[in-house]
Amino acid sequence: MHVYQMRAEYADGVSSGPVRWWHMVRDNGTTALCGRELDETAAIVSDEQWGKTAEPFCHTCGALYLRQVP
Ligand SMILES: [Zn+2]
Repeated sequence: MHVYQMRAEYADGVSSGPVRWWHMVRDNGTTALCGRELDETAAIVSDEQWGKTAEPFCHTCGALYLRQVP
């Protein structure tokens, strides 16, 4: 049983400033479900925030997440 979190990808490539996308990761990891490598210092929030953030969510991660979490 995995625990999912959302991790930020930043528009300027550093772990600050505006969030470009939220990706979904497993168990506080740095590899998104879509395969994207994310910075370990990037912001991480509960997957309960899925669909509630102001910033867009990675569509690939969203599709994979919905397939894995009933
Ligand atoms: Zn993604």
